[in-house]
Amino acid sequence: MWEKKVERKELMKKTLKILMLIGIIALGINLTEVKAEEVTAPVTTAPQETTTAPETTTPAVTTPQEITTKVEQPTTVQPTTKPDVDTTGKNVKKGGYVKKTVTAYNLKLEKVTKVEKGIRYYVYKKCNNGYSLIQVGNQKLLVESKYITYKCNAKKIVNAADKKYSYNDMKRDLKKLEKAYGSIFKVDIAGKSLDKRNLYYVTLGNAKAKKTVYVETSVHAREYMNTKFIMNVIEDYCRGYDSKKYQGKKYSKIFNNVKLVIMPMVNPDGVTISQYGPKKIRNATLRKNLYKIANGFSFKEWKANARGVDINRNYAEGFNREGAKASAHKNYPGKTPVSEPETKAQISVVEKVKPNVVICYHQAGKVMYHLNHTKLSNMLYSMTHYTHVLSGQVQYGTFSDYLDDRNILNCTLETGLVPAPVKNRQYKKIYKTNKNVLVAVAKMYS
Ligand SMILES: [Zn+2]
Repeated sequence: MWEKKVERKELMKKTLKILMLIGIIALGINLTEVKAEEVTAPVTTAPQETTTAPETTTPAVTTPQEITTKVEQPTTVQPTTKPDVDTTGKNVKKGGYVKKTVTAYNLKLEKVTKVEKGIRYYVYKKCNNGYSLIQVGNQKLLVESKYITYKCNAKKIVNAADKKYSYNDMKRDLKKLEKAYGSIFKVDIAGKSLDKRNLYYVTLGNAKAKKTVYVETSVHAREYMNTKFIMNVIEDYCRGYDSKKYQGKKYSKIFNNVKLVIMPMVNPDGVTISQYGPKKIRNATLRKNLYKIANGFSFKEWKANARGVDINRNYAEGFNREGAKASAHKNYPGKTPVSEPETKAQISVVEKVKPNVVICYHQAGKVMYHLNHTKLSNMLYSMTHYTHVLSGQVQYGTFSDYLDDRNILNCTLETGLVPAPVKNRQYKKIYKTNKNVLVAVAKMYS
């Protein structure tokens, strides 16, 4: 009995060992199968990888990233397969937005940045991996196609109801507009005013377009309503860039051929004086002099810059033909031609962009000034019904005189009914009458 028991125990031990061995072998087969899968998996995607990007990523690197992405952004999934994308960027592109903040990846499928709702991006194409290629700054990145929309979802920026649209309002809005529409809207600075305010100019449309319409507003201080007007127009054109048409032609097509270059507030010190008086002028010397120059005159009707020079009399062409003999709220040409930073800034922009045509916005009187009757002046009349006034050959040191001497076609539009500053209740009418002027002029040249 005892011996038999021992034999049985040994037999059981042996069978257990055999069973364990079988188990280990089975496990080993499983492991080798897994390894084989891991090895074969990238092989199937290899041809795609080699045709798109030379860099290869190993699964060991992407797996931990996947986990961290899911933790941080549960709804944004990192791409695992390479896109069938043409990296030369010659694909047709159109303006688009993302529906919510999503993560963007480079072509190596690495996280690069977040892209935000309310910002216009150029979208190149949908790829075969569920992602689309978009332009972010100077990079082309991938975002999930399902989050892309072609409807503008940017917030409205410029407040048309603002009765005193100031330099600071404009400065803030330019920044916001550039953030939202940076792919089609650029802000630059052409100089500084005497009281150290920026002399901004902006480019709307294709910055590389060969043709240019140049626009200036608020050369004269009290005409600041035109800055609000032009800022509203800029926003409207940006919002409608990919969807709106003018006379059957898409804005995007028009502004791809003809860009708008706009100086929305040529005389920011003057605007500040007209809106708030000299107390908002920071430079004490300028401020004290302003009270002397005004000599009791109402600052609301100020036209000149911070040292009483009328920018629109400061050009060399016909300089000092007439006007005030010393610093004044208007009409003083200055000591020498082109002495003022605002004049210099305008000239520098015009010399840089070489406009085909220039529109000068002033106030008031519902009048339009131009040298001759042209296709341009006829079209502007048909839109505004402002009274034609031929400016004639006699020059007075105005911006128009400067342009006429260089054979740059130009027209001055005086918006609203006198007196300036124009009453705010006229704004809606002015806006309605003039909102299509710049797109129409651009279309003429497109
Ligand atoms: Zn004016």
